[in-house]
Order: sequence, then C-alpha cells, then structure tokens
Amino acid sequence: MADRYPTFTGTGPGRFLARRLGLPRPAPLRRWTPDAPDLGGPVVLRTAGVSALTGPLPGVPAQEASRSGDRPAAVVLDATGVATAAGLAEVHAALHPLVRSVAESGRIVVLGTRPSADDHHQAAAQQALEGFVRSLAKETGGGRTANLVRLGSPDPAHTGSTLRFLLSSRSAYVSGQVVELTGAVPGGSGDPSRPLAGRTALVTGAARGIGAAVAEVLVRDGAQVVCLDVPGAGDDLARTAGRLRGTPLPLDITAPDAAERIMAALPGGELDVLVHNAGITRDRRLANMPAESWAQVLTVNLAAVLDTTDALLKAGAVRRGGGVVATASIAGIAGNTGQTNYAAAKAGIIGLVRSLAPRAAAEHGVTVNAVAPGFIETRMTAAVPLLIREAGRRMNSLAQGGLPVDVAEATAYLADPASTAVNGQVLRVCGQSLLGA
Ligand code: NAD
Repeated sequence: MADRYPTFTGTGPGRFLARRLGLPRPAPLRRWTPDAPDLGGPVVLRTAGVSALTGPLPGVPAQEASRSGDRPAAVVLDATGVATAAGLAEVHAALHPLVRSVAESGRIVVLGTRPSADDHHQAAAQQALEGFVRSLAKETGGGRTANLVRLGSPDPAHTGSTLRFLLSSRSAYVSGQVVELTGAVPGGSGDPSRPLAGRTALVTGAARGIGAAVAEVLVRDGAQVVCLDVPGAGDDLARTAGRLRGTPLPLDITAPDAAERIMAALPGGELDVLVHNAGITRDRRLANMPAESWAQVLTVNLAAVLDTTDALLKAGAVRRGGGVVATASIAGIAGNTGQTNYAAAKAGIIGLVRSLAPRAAAEHGVTVNAVAPGFIETRMTAAVPLLIREAGRRMNSLAQGGLPVDVAEATAYLADPASTAVNGQVLRVCGQSLLGA
C-alpha cells in the first residue's frame, strides 16, 4: 500500500498536526530525472586545516562557486588533514556558518582518511568525523544528506565516481554512511553519463521490484541487460526485459546448473556486471520456523549467490574491470524479529563481500560490493503488517521509505567501471535507518 503520510503532512492541517504532536515531517526527495540530472546549484568546497590531498578533487569546482549568491546545493568539506583533537575545531569553523544555507535535498560530503593504526591522535580525529557526519545526517532535515568518504590515498583521482554519486540526486536515500576507498587507480570510463556503455549486466530477480529498477538504471547508464527470474515470473519478466530491450532468462538461481545456463545466455558467454538481487523471505520466529523455511531462504539468498559467483569467476566469465554487486539488508546488520533465516543469509552476504573483495580484485580484476537496503517500497514490504510497515517507513532520518530506484542508483554506482577504488563495501541505502545505525 502506498505511503500516504508524506502527502498528508504536506497539507495545511497535516503540517499543523505534525508540528503540534512532534511527528516526523518527511520532505519530498529530489531524484534523478533526464530533465534535471544534476542537483542544480553550486557546490561549495571548504577545507578544515591543511588538506592532505595532492591534487584537485575531480568534479568539484573550486571555492568560487560559493560567491555566486545561490544557496549551495552541496558542500564538500576536505578534512583529510585533520590529525588532532584540536584540529577538529576547524571542522566546526568550516561548516557551522554554512550548514543552514544548504538547499533542500542538498548534499554534505566530508572527506577523511583511514584512522591510523600507529597514530592514535590521528585515529581519534578521523574517527571523530564519523560521529560528526552521522549526527549531522540526523539533524540536517529537508531531504538533505550527509556522508563521509574515507580516502585510500592522498591522490584524489580515485574519488571521482564516489563524489559524482554522493553529490547528485542519485544518492537521495543514502545518508549517514561511510564509504571507504582503496587507493586503487580507477578503471575509468569514457562518458560519465553512460558509464556502462558497451557492457553487459546480469540482474537476478529482475522481473519486478528492486531488480527491475536495477535493470532499468543499468540500461540508462548504457548497459545491455540479461534479466533473470524464476520461470513462474513469466509475464513480468517478459515485460521488464522487453521494455529494456534486454534478454529474459527464466531460471531458478538455485538450479544446480544455474551458472552454465547463465553463461549460455550471455553474449559471448561473458559479462561485466553481476547483480545478485533475487531474494525471498519466509518469516517466522525460530521456535515456529520449519527447517524448510530456513533452507529455502538460506539457499536463495546466500548459497546461490556463493555458488554462482564462484562458478562465474572460476570460468573467467566476469570480465576484468567488472563488478559483482550483491544484495544484503539492514536486517543482516541489525537483526529482525521473525527473520533469523533472512538475517543470517543477509549477514552471510556481508561476510562473502568482505572476504572475497580483495582476492577477486587481485586475481580477476573484479570488485565485489553489496548494497544493504533499508525499508524500500516493494511488494515484499507491502506484505509486512501495518504497524511494522509504518515503523519501517518513519524510523530513519528521512522519515520515509526508499524507492526501488534508490537501490538501483547505488548498484549502478558500485558497478561503474570508474568505481574500482570501491571494493568490499556494504553500502546502506536506508535513509539512515535507526536499525543497526
Ligand atoms: P521482490 O519479492 O519484489 O522481488 C524479488 C524477485 O526475486 C522476484 O521477482 C522473485 O521472483 C525473484 N526470485 C526469488 N527467488 C528466485 C530464485 N530462486 N531465482 C530467481 N529469481 C528469484 O523483492 P524486492 O523487495 O524487490 O527485493 C529485492 C532484493 O532486495 C532481495 O534480495 C531482498 O531481500 C532485498 N531487500 C529488499 C528490501 C525491501 O525493503 N524491499 C530491504 C532489504 C533487502
């Protein structure tokens, strides 16, 4: 059932009631459209102390933007040089005068470095940025987001695709998060508006919901898609694949020969982007859960992901420069009543990603990341009981559920060949859900 609460709080009486009762007031989020692909305002760059960067930030205009008089659509704070507790005063000094002027649905991105294992003063200062950003994301309101990017090296060239994503309307439902970059040299891409041009992507569970949105956004970004879903998905699968000029692949991902059948369906037997999105729930408290429900969820959501990834990597079917994006969930981070099976499987995805990422990069030139959606408006969450559904929608900093396209945009960012510095990450797309925060 559609979320009517934001419409209600957008009316005069709704606004009045929400204010009087202290209820959340979700702001409409600005999302990507072909007519308005950018945030539509200046990006302001500030530095706390002396920057540790060795060059200009790609895609971030220099300081002058702040003098245009427009409200900033985004603020980037370079805090890479903050290495002491005293230095944190510069963070306050840089953002305190600006924060109120950031436009609605604007972006705040803080750049830091990895907390050091050898210098506990630097580690304290850099870790402090995480608490700072997560708090700012909670208080900023108006559809604004705040995120922290930890650079893997002082050369900012590897930040390009991450800044492009976080400083755009494509990251509408990503807030209060930390993205850690490796220092890897980016694989690059010709045209940032079509970064997946000439690439092939396979999306599992693509007939509907989040998977259909992922396929659509990957096609927008230039990819050719193969849309996989269970044979029973029939019409939905044919419709989605037809609309996107993709190849439908009716196949149960748990089939023992799934990897072979996937390779047979791929043009040239190879792909660049592998999106594991297919997933099911069979919710029951453990005491009431039959072994079959446990097994089904673990098999579809975890074992099939492990098996097909292994088989496709081993066969060399994922081209160098490509990426695997799996789908975790905030349930796999925070746990959830009635979801021991689902949360176990989704936590397993996180384990898979963190362990495989460095080896897949070294041996195959492939990145491995995950998205961890929060409450996303789909058929899966429409089946959740009303009160729990309402809690899921409101208990996040943006006070609303996300849309399938929000997960799709995050997936496309991770699949971007310019994102090779993003590896082993679990990116929450949850509006900064209080669950597992
Ligand atoms: P959905 O139920 O709308 O779609 C899932 C798709 O996966 C369906 O088309 C289904 O037919 C397909 N599928 C299921 N089993 C399959 C199998 N064995 N082989 C091939 N395809 C199979 O769900 P959704 O809400 O779009 O969720 C997509 C993914 O996102 C899932 O992994 C889910 O766990 C995850 N997720 C969703 C939310 C949310 O709020 N909706 C939150 C966190 C994580």
